[in-house]
Amino acid sequence: MIDTHCHIDDPQYADELDAFLAAQRADGVEAILVPGVEAATTQDVLDVCAKYPGYLYPALGLHPENVKEDWREQLAIIKSALDKHLVSTSETSETPKTLSTSNLRLVAIGEIGLDYHWDTTYKSEQHEALREQMRWAQQYNLPVMIHSREATEDTLSILREFPSVKGVMHCFSGSHEVAKQVVDMGYYLGIGGVLTFKNCRLAEHLVGIPLESLVLETDAPYMAPVPYRGKRNESRWMRYVAERLAQVYDCSVEHVIEQTSANARALFGLNL
Ligand SMILES: [Zn+2]
Repeated sequence: MIDTHCHIDDPQYADELDAFLAAQRADGVEAILVPGVEAATTQDVLDVCAKYPGYLYPALGLHPENVKEDWREQLAIIKSALDKHLVSTSETSETPKTLSTSNLRLVAIGEIGLDYHWDTTYKSEQHEALREQMRWAQQYNLPVMIHSREATEDTLSILREFPSVKGVMHCFSGSHEVAKQVVDMGYYLGIGGVLTFKNCRLAEHLVGIPLESLVLETDAPYMAPVPYRGKRNESRWMRYVAERLAQVYDCSVEHVIEQTSANARALFGLNL
């Protein structure tokens, strides 16, 4: 299993990180992708990933909830961290990104997107921050990790401005129609603990969506699946999500794990 979205830099994991990651590995977690959410913790994400090369892979970005009056300054800090670790490719180039000699393998721009749930004060700034970071994805030929909450239409319309960029709609819980639109754009759906929640209709919304378009994720420390709902999440618990997917797709859990891992490897260019 590959966890495509895990906030392992969260202080909740700091005390026992070695043991925690060893337990995930022992239970079949091959790799964990760690998104950035703001300028202030950008270095934390890079530092924790540098400690576990080949297992933790960083992404960097400004989460829409962190788009405040200082969003331009935050973007400048995040961009300079990216520039330090990546060599940009021309926007039209088909060649894969060239990486610097750093042992850090940056796998995506993220998490970025739009969130109208708590606050829409900075709505237009959220749009501009998303566009700017989509341009980075283009510049570096990297996929994106998209966070969209109560903002589906605006998110999809901005993503469509960048047809060469691909990515994952993280923590997907939308309708079948939205799932279809996302997949038709060449994006993947990030499926996590939500799928196992009682009264959640995601499973029926996935009917007809190819397994080839799904990746597994936790969004840890949040979104722990049933039977651990409400607890601090762990990547190995994605097995419960995979079991639920096996029911939806009428196939074995092993097949779900194999296919979603292959999808994650392809999207993020992981050599595992
Ligand atoms: Zn997240």
